[in-house]
Amino acid sequence: MTPTARVLVGAATATLPSGAGRERYHLEHLAELHALPRGDQVRYALGALATSWALRRALTPEAEMSTIPTPSAVPLLCRLRLHHHWRTEHNEAGEAYRRCTRCGKDATGDPPRGTPKHPLPYG
Ligand SMILES: [Zn+2]
Repeated sequence: MTPTARVLVGAATATLPSGAGRERYHLEHLAELHALPRGDQVRYALGALATSWALRRALTPEAEMSTIPTPSAVPLLCRLRLHHHWRTEHNEAGEAYRRCTRCGKDATGDPPRGTPKHPLPYG
């Protein structure tokens, strides 16, 4: 086995996730190299190195959809506390409060000064 092919195969499997899978692929590549004529070993090892990232991706488990954070669904103007789209609601006791129809924020009391009586066309 040529030293160059051995180093290339080592580099190809070094990118794989650690554990039994990495060792298994390393041994399989070495077995393939032993079966090849010396003149083809470097070409095989280069191919293993070129495809090692794809193999790494295939061996790495994907994160479950439930663990991937999603962008907030709260509108930007609500997040920046610049404008809520207030609507008057009543609780079980009949007391009035305000709830933003866009982000669900609840508030009591009078709307802040400067709040337009009609919703902003872009709000
Ligand atoms: Zn809001």
